Amino acid sequence: MCGIFGIVGHAEASNLTYLGLHALQHRGQESAGIVSTDGNLLRAHRQMGLVADIFDAPTLANLPGQAAIGHVRYSTAGGSALKNAQPLFVQYAGGQCAIAHNGNLVNAAELKEQLEADGAIFQSDADTEVILHLLARSKQPTFEQKLVEALRRVKGAYSLLVLTENKLVAVRDPHGIRPLVLGRMKEGAYVLASETTALDLIEADLVRELEPGELLVIENGVMRTSKPLVEPPRLARCIFEHVYFARPDSSVFGNSVYEVRKQMGRQLAIEHPAEADLVIAVPDSGVAAAIGFSQQSGIPYDVGLIRSHYVGRTFIEPQQSIRHFGVKLKLSAVRQVLKGKRVVVVDDSIVRGTTSRKIVKMIKAAGAVEVHLRISSPPTKWPCYYGIDTPSRQELIAATHTAEEIAKYVTADSLGYITLDGLGRAVGDPERGSFCTACFSGEYLIGDFGGAKDAEVTKLTA
Ligand code: AMP
Repeated sequence: MCGIFGIVGHAEASNLTYLGLHALQHRGQESAGIVSTDGNLLRAHRQMGLVADIFDAPTLANLPGQAAIGHVRYSTAGGSALKNAQPLFVQYAGGQCAIAHNGNLVNAAELKEQLEADGAIFQSDADTEVILHLLARSKQPTFEQKLVEALRRVKGAYSLLVLTENKLVAVRDPHGIRPLVLGRMKEGAYVLASETTALDLIEADLVRELEPGELLVIENGVMRTSKPLVEPPRLARCIFEHVYFARPDSSVFGNSVYEVRKQMGRQLAIEHPAEADLVIAVPDSGVAAAIGFSQQSGIPYDVGLIRSHYVGRTFIEPQQSIRHFGVKLKLSAVRQVLKGKRVVVVDDSIVRGTTSRKIVKMIKAAGAVEVHLRISSPPTKWPCYYGIDTPSRQELIAATHTAEEIAKYVTADSLGYITLDGLGRAVGDPERGSFCTACFSGEYLIGDFGGAKDAEVTKLTA
């Protein structure tokens, strides 16, 4: 999962990209970068770390020009290292080109092998680099045709921004897996962003979401749109964007994330009611669903956990040891609220189960007499190959344990997950015909993951 932002037609392009990336920081905290163009030359600055730490006035002043693209990274394909920081930036026979990618390509390894056998030298482990190699090797006459030829060979999830000396290209994969929206500033500049919250920050108006398979070219103030990629039998918009990833003040796939999450909470209260004195959320990801649960059940909502704003998303740290320590750094319990109470705790998902276990223990240590854990997504049983960091089945507690076993492991008095049907209703697509639900259902719509399904799963020990 990553965040991308681009702007064209504004004298402050790199400053605005910096602000846009700031608003998208929740989508990735490992590295960030901006590439700008002044019409002749592309300039780049990329570093490990957070947007606010990487850029300052002098670095942004070194990124002049009327157009820029930026990226915040959370590694899924390729390790956490500077060489994988984006936007990737290359010089090839056709000129200069930078690319920022959100998503995961499922056939990158295969394509990379073919390209390397043919002499290509890769500079990163990022799947995104495959697109650049394919583009540079294309014999098509124009840049757009080269890009389209490259994209016709890749499979998987991609929302892309591509910058050349004089144009910005935005593309969304034909399945529409990752979001990407188009906005416009009052001065006329066009803006592209993973989420609408980035548009809000810089006071750009939302024009529309890019359509799946759409390719948009902005050049000399003129925008051209086309749909040159093969249309798949159905869409596969990532349902996990609504469950966890996107910011609640964003609108994703045309729906308010906050409203959808609240609806998940209401549905959860219908499916798994509890006898309790109060409803609390695991902040921030569980807040909207907890409010929905409270409204539906009539059980009062209160703040029983406080989140420190000085640590990042702990899950996102790649190393288990840091994650382990991180929960206490991140959350603390409010004794006055919890003491002697039967508490419903709402969170968005259980992945490994380690966070939930610590949270339940923390709430009990603060004096709660019962803890009823409610999860606003179905059991996460399958790894994601399209850009969410859930790489192996072994690590997913629900792949090998029933809800009762998980309840026991996390030491909750009861545990209830929303059903897949209920989640579908909350996102406004009861049949889930336009969403990818692979992480819950194992129905992979893109790529052949039969092998992964049969992979041996080691039982986790409680
Ligand atoms: P755990 O069950 O200990 O692995 O962690 C679950 C917690 O991580 C939940 O509270 C989620 O909010 C959060 N989470 C779930 N999926 C992801 C993800 N792909 N990236 C980052 N955080 C996540």
